[in-house]
Amino acid sequence: MAIIDFDVHHGNGTQDAFYSDADVLYVSSHQYPHYPGSGAAEETGSGQAVGTTLNIPLPGGVGDGGVARIYDEIVTPAVRRFRPDLILVSAGYDAHWADPLAGLMLTCTGHARLARTLIDLAAELCHGRIVFTLEGGYNLDALAHGVANAVRALLGRDDLSDPLGSAQNTEPDLSAIIADLKTRHRL
Ligand SMILES: [Zn+2]
Repeated sequence: MAIIDFDVHHGNGTQDAFYSDADVLYVSSHQYPHYPGSGAAEETGSGQAVGTTLNIPLPGGVGDGGVARIYDEIVTPAVRRFRPDLILVSAGYDAHWADPLAGLMLTCTGHARLARTLIDLAAELCHGRIVFTLEGGYNLDALAHGVANAVRALLGRDDLSDPLGSAQNTEPDLSAIIADLKTRHRL
């Protein structure tokens, strides 16, 4: 089983539950440093399970482009290698630019793309078995459209709603972070 956590906060409780369990791949992309403080790239699991925790700490302002790159270049190859029989998604929408708690600067469109990437992986690897569980999201419009877009994606629909649009910001270059993660996890 793989758990993919795109909530803006590190999933410290989920990580703790499976940190020494080699049968569960836990992947978390999150703003870092940020609450709750855990989730450094060096946290990769313990004992037989080293390598089955994949933390992706991201600077503020990453935006749709940066997160798409992370999911294409890091998350997708890691999940393909693990070959889960089920994907669980910790689906938080607090990485949206309008969220008051954090600053990863995603849009509803960016969140929808993430959902589609994970649904495609489930179709490819585990007969479509995927479960989205709602986590954070503190701008209620961004939350509502994020959830609605994920449900549309689960139904195989291509349309999405993004009335909030984007906040103009300059996205930081993630090349060093991606290179570090590829080396650390041999991706
Ligand atoms: Zn959160």
